[in-house]
Amino acid sequence: MDAAHDHLVEMLSRLKLTAIRDQLDSLIDEAGRRELTIREALGLFCEREIARKDERRIEMSVGLARFPFVRDLAGFDFAAQPSIDKGQIRELATGRFIANGEAVLFLGPPGVGKTHLAVALGHESIRQGYSVLFATAPALVAALAKAHTEGRLEERLSFFAKPKLLIVDELGYLPFEPDAAHLFYQLVSRRYERGAMLITSNRSVVEWGSVFGDAVVATAILDRLLHHSHVITIRGDSYRLREKRRSGLLPKQGGEAAATAS
Ligand code: ADP
Ligand code: MG
Repeated sequence: MDAAHDHLVEMLSRLKLTAIRDQLDSLIDEAGRRELTIREALGLFCEREIARKDERRIEMSVGLARFPFVRDLAGFDFAAQPSIDKGQIRELATGRFIANGEAVLFLGPPGVGKTHLAVALGHESIRQGYSVLFATAPALVAALAKAHTEGRLEERLSFFAKPKLLIVDELGYLPFEPDAAHLFYQLVSRRYERGAMLITSNRSVVEWGSVFGDAVVATAILDRLLHHSHVITIRGDSYRLREKRRSGLLPKQGGEAAATAS
């Protein structure tokens, strides 16, 4: 029995069936207790192995995505944000926009949940098997500019072009340097119709000319981004400030706060 057990463990290790190996005794017990047929028991073992492998893959991809925080769609209070169409977010969560290489724009003032939704959709996309990378616009542009001066622009562009979904957060909080706008344009055209992008911005699309400091480059960027795109404009108060107001830390605002107070 012991030699047979050791041999089995060795084979499971060699096959990298580590979940079955680690839970072997309890799995065998469970199969016995539930009086499973051999076929059913094998099914159970494979399910556990696949669950573990999926978990690992998601964990690894989430690490590679470099999200700034952990957020999911379940944690998003849609009732607090009536300007968002829940159905549209659910549709985005299917990942179809990634398969089609489309662009998603979340536009709106600070604190309304743009980054929350971007991270939540990024997480959902990973669960569906897509690779995701998150970067803030200033960090992304700084990385491209640095690579440019070091003669490694091509390498960096490939890096940012590779993930199936690239999330660019906080476009427009800082204006771009003239060179930076052109670098960003190169990235957008490289990804155009090949990879999806999700961009958040506190500026409306008509203001992007001043964000990029160059109307011609801004138009070229928008032309590509808006061609196949989902533009979601979020209105309303900062969620954080609203929560503070509700708990009495800040004075209430006129009609809106009175209407939401229960
Ligand atoms: P933005 O990126 O639009 O400035 P964030 O997504 O960073 O705003 O949101 C600010 C904080 O408020 C985050 O911690 C986020 O999770 C939370 N938040 C914003 N909107 C909602 C919402 N509708 N439901 C739950 N949490 C929210
Ligand atoms: Mg944000």
